[in-house]
Amino acid sequence: MRDVTDPDYTVGIVGAGVMGQGIAQVTLAGGMRAIIFDAKDGAAAAGQAEVFKRIDRLVEKDRLSAADADTQKARLSVAASLADFAGCDTVVEAVVEKLEVKRQIFGDLEDIVAENAILATNTSSLPIASIARTCRVPGRVAGMHFFNPVPLMRLVEIIEGPATDPAVAAQLSELGKRMGRTPVSVKDSPGFLVNLGGRAYYTEALRLLDEGVATPSQIDAILTDCCGFRMGPFALMDLTGMDVNYPVSMIVYEGFLNDRRLATTPRHKLLYEAGRLGRKTKAGHFDYDEAGKNVTPSDADYAPSGAPASKVVCAEAPDEPDALFALCQAVGLEILEDDDGTSPIIGYPVGDDATSYALELGIDPKRLVAVDVSADTAKRVTLMTAPGADPAHLDAVAAAIVASGRAVTAIKDSPGFVALRMRAAIANLGCAIAEAGLATPSDIDLALKLGLNYPMGPLEMAGELGLETTLVVMELLQEITGDDRYRPALWLRRRALLGLPIHTPS
Ligand code: NAD
Repeated sequence: MRDVTDPDYTVGIVGAGVMGQGIAQVTLAGGMRAIIFDAKDGAAAAGQAEVFKRIDRLVEKDRLSAADADTQKARLSVAASLADFAGCDTVVEAVVEKLEVKRQIFGDLEDIVAENAILATNTSSLPIASIARTCRVPGRVAGMHFFNPVPLMRLVEIIEGPATDPAVAAQLSELGKRMGRTPVSVKDSPGFLVNLGGRAYYTEALRLLDEGVATPSQIDAILTDCCGFRMGPFALMDLTGMDVNYPVSMIVYEGFLNDRRLATTPRHKLLYEAGRLGRKTKAGHFDYDEAGKNVTPSDADYAPSGAPASKVVCAEAPDEPDALFALCQAVGLEILEDDDGTSPIIGYPVGDDATSYALELGIDPKRLVAVDVSADTAKRVTLMTAPGADPAHLDAVAAAIVASGRAVTAIKDSPGFVALRMRAAIANLGCAIAEAGLATPSDIDLALKLGLNYPMGPLEMAGELGLETTLVVMELLQEITGDDRYRPALWLRRRALLGLPIHTPS
């Protein structure tokens, strides 16, 4: 294997489409040579022209010198056939997502490149094992999964199939770094790291919708305003498109042999089948105008009627630094020492729904207004009530919060509310990935932050919520819903019980 720092290190790229062009561009930016081939007449030359255009744009923006641009351009060539790849050190395949086509290309390449050249695939969903299986030397086959748009997305997943030589994966990581990317290592598994770890955000939001807990606008508002996500799960599903995220959800779910943790909901399938794909069809979870603006009226903000409450009773004795106590102070709600029998009762159930919480504490469920203080309440506060609750109490508490300049989202009963439940589900899936040894805890965190813009990685999220809290939320979700989907990952359970940091290796 030629050293990856060699000035003449050459990367062959098969497929000059969206991804192939991006991979060529970052290869050149890393000071290497790139050669590009496409089966469609003229496509490789068109890809080369597009890469040249992007390089020119960088010069116009003063982000690249004219001399460096010329050097980069001189290092990109077009192959007339795969035979021109004979001198490549690594070939990255980025053609259509069809196993038979990829197998054919890998078979052809094996007879062309040197014995020690690496063959990598940019597949999003096919097992590396299936592609390597028909190769003469499967040890040199690995995944190198870039994200779109390649020059802007720093992450690259280096995927080791069961037969991949670790030295091959190590060299691909170094190559990724030379391309200016941040590599993470992952074992061959459905969805690899980002598409697997990202499932919880979509599918748990869809579950909340299915349970009638909250609407898409409400769930999105809670996640963006209280939890620091850049986009809510429904807006994100509409952006990526149901034609992408529904099939990926199914590939991951079926790939893990119908593990309930990864199950999506019938509504997801329905939108996909109805062609309500999201922004691209101007209709998905929300409706969009010609300019791509969401035109569905938002019902995220609750508009209370009636006067604000001035006094509340606390379901559990508040402690001075308690987040619920602090919120009451901030919105001017006096906490009564003794129950006056008429004021709203507020409480923060951790993992319980309002129904179970009221019954456990022996308080009147009609007067209970549950307040989610697990997340940031500076902009928005989530309030939850049990079925049959007296709306006057909800209105009175909501009015006091709204008067303080905060928005209120009023949701139906849910174990773990929305903010806590969503983050616990994301954290639990991250822990399950660590438990299965698919990647290191730090790579799991890094991949989801870089690949999906998460405010923190899933394991970091478990740390932020508190391991005990995360475990309790998952246990109660499992108990109350009776759904195995919520079974706590053993990785989480053991570290929570032992009082160890979540990143502690096994
Ligand atoms: P694309 O359709 O833009 O480009 C594919 C190119 O491959 C086309 O130019 C086509 O002519 C060419 N091609 C098809 N068969 C060929 C063959 N036998 N030999 C040579 N060239 C051939 O597709 P894309 O979006 O660039 O995706 C390519 C691969 O990257 C797929 O495996 C996809 O799953 C994966 N991927 C895509 C994205 C994305 O967001 N687009 C992200 C990550 C990974």
